[in-house]
This record gives sequence, structure tokens and C-alpha cells, in this order.
Amino acid sequence: MSAPAEPTLFERIAAREIPANIVAETANVIAFHDIAPKAPVHVVVTPKSGTYRDVVELAAGDPALLAELVDVARGIAADLADGDFRLVFNTGAGAGQTVFHVHAHVLAGGLEEASLG
Ligand code: IMP
Repeated sequence: MSAPAEPTLFERIAAREIPANIVAETANVIAFHDIAPKAPVHVVVTPKSGTYRDVVELAAGDPALLAELVDVARGIAADLADGDFRLVFNTGAGAGQTVFHVHAHVLAGGLEEASLG
């Protein structure tokens, strides 16, 4: 029998073991300000459980939870900015993912100068 996995950083934030500036919470999802913001509004939205490592696993394993996460992101952009937002899922170390507990970055507020298009 293998030992139980260590809780992830974001599971520990959801359990209030590590302090964070929490801005939204549902039964399954929690959102908090990123500790190193890259935009005027930069919020991390993540399932409370670290079951899924990245958005590909989450989409395959629990699409309803992915939809819940996107809806929380929508609400944050409406509450903290003008409703428009960018949603970024870094997927894999080569793409900059550092926390292997699926999460979205909600970036909002004054992004016109940083358009990807
Ligand atoms: P990733 O690089 O896509 O995995 O995103 C991880 C994010 O978590 C980074 O933007 C970090 O700044 C952020 N982060 C790391 N530790 C904390 C924390 O304790 N509170 C809030 N955000 C954090």
C-alpha cells in the first residue's frame, strides 16, 4: 500500500492551513489573489481537491467541475473588474506550470495593451 499523497499547496490554502486573500468560494472551488500578480486583477481559481494535476485531466475526469471553475472566474471578473477577463491554464512545466494541482489564472483589468491577438 502506498503512503497517502502530501496535500498540495492549494489544498492547504483551501483548508486554511496557509493564509491567502480569498475572494470567492463554492462547495468545490476556491479563488484567491495570486501572491505575485501579473495584472491589475490576478486571481487563482482552483478546485479545493488536488485530484487533477492540470486542465486536461480535469476536463476528461470532471467536466462539471471545470464548468464550475469557469463560472467562478466569470463572477470574479464581474466583481473585481469590468467583466472581461483572460483565463490561463499553464499546463506542464514547459509551459510554466509550477503547482501541479489544476488552477486557472483569472487576469483582468487594463489588459488591452497585453492582447495575444
Ligand atoms: P502556475 O505557475 O501556473 O503553476 O501558477 C502558480 C501560481 O501560484 C503562481 O502565479 C504563483 O504566484 C501562485 N502562488 C504560489 N504560492 C501562492 C500562495 O501562497 N498564495 C497565492 N498564490 C500563490
